Amino acid sequence: MPETASFAGRVFGPGLPGGGAAAAARWQDAALVVVVADGREIVAARVRIEASGFNAERVRLAWSAGPEAAGDYAFFVESAEARARCVASAPEEHAAALRAALGAQAKTERRFRLGWGVIGAVLLLPFLVLAGFALNADALARWVVARIPVAQEAALGDLTLAQTRTQMTLIERGPAVDAVRSIGEKLTVGSPHRYRWFVADRPDLNAFAAPGGVVVVFSGLIRAAKTPEELAGVLAHEVAHAELRHSLQAMAKSLGLRALVSLALGDFAGDRMAGALAQLGELKYSRDAEREADAEGLRRLLAAGIDPHGMVSMFATLARGAPADDGGGEGTAEERRVSPPTLLSTHPPTEERLASLRQMLAGENRQFAPLSIDWAAVKASLPAR
Ligand SMILES: [Zn+2]
Repeated sequence: MPETASFAGRVFGPGLPGGGAAAAARWQDAALVVVVADGREIVAARVRIEASGFNAERVRLAWSAGPEAAGDYAFFVESAEARARCVASAPEEHAAALRAALGAQAKTERRFRLGWGVIGAVLLLPFLVLAGFALNADALARWVVARIPVAQEAALGDLTLAQTRTQMTLIERGPAVDAVRSIGEKLTVGSPHRYRWFVADRPDLNAFAAPGGVVVVFSGLIRAAKTPEELAGVLAHEVAHAELRHSLQAMAKSLGLRALVSLALGDFAGDRMAGALAQLGELKYSRDAEREADAEGLRRLLAAGIDPHGMVSMFATLARGAPADDGGGEGTAEERRVSPPTLLSTHPPTEERLASLRQMLAGENRQFAPLSIDWAAVKASLPAR
């Protein structure tokens, strides 16, 4: 009964989650019937067949969602077993195209093995033989990240933003966001990224920059900052992480090489990618990356004509923790679970960082005009706690 044999995969398209949904498909005459995990049934009368994915290891069945809907649907047949069933049960008119797609796939798989044999000898061997694994993972992540185009990073930023919205309430307009944006734009003049600035309604003293220029500042941090210059200090540090592609490298390390190459090719589909994005808030930077971000942040503050001493005093505040009236660091267990680590928890010892910041500022005795931001109004605009 080949026409009832179903094959598993993942479906993407209008009305489905960005990371796709698990589904089972079967051929019904010339049509493809896709049953999504939630029970929804999508019938595709006219299907296009393509090999896809990193080195064409998947078969993609694509079809138009109709004239009134935006975008196409795509069903990815991922496992070898599912592919075999898909081909075996395919109607005559699709069988040839499927065989062609699988033929292309076998060819690229052979090329893949050969290619990786060489690359493995050069790049991967050190992983196996050296105990200094972390060191090489860093180097490899940097090497691959350097080859990811800015446009792909931006697409990753869009996904990141969608993921962030599921984890926290973002404040998108009002004095607090205006303040973050106006300072942030001064710090990112000439950047290749299209920055997007947000304030999250959360008590923690925290902020993060995701790949592709998505910057989120927690309201707890704005409450704790005594001046806009202090906020600028943290923004400069986070922007430096984004500009130096630290966030992308940290993600690269936690993703693994294969997913990373998919990323470089702009293939964001699949579970592994979705999983990696879910971990975004837990990205950790190396000590070197933190020192680099401090120095680059300071450089950006000076270039923007913003008093850099705010960075030093804000870091001192962060080291002490939240002021008592702020309730910072509180929040439900659930909030804490999805919350990024506090800004300084993964950083080099704060005393050491403060000392080197002070050292870098030692010869700096310029007068800086204060930022023209009504700081009291910014704080008053934050949701009540
Ligand atoms: Zn940092």
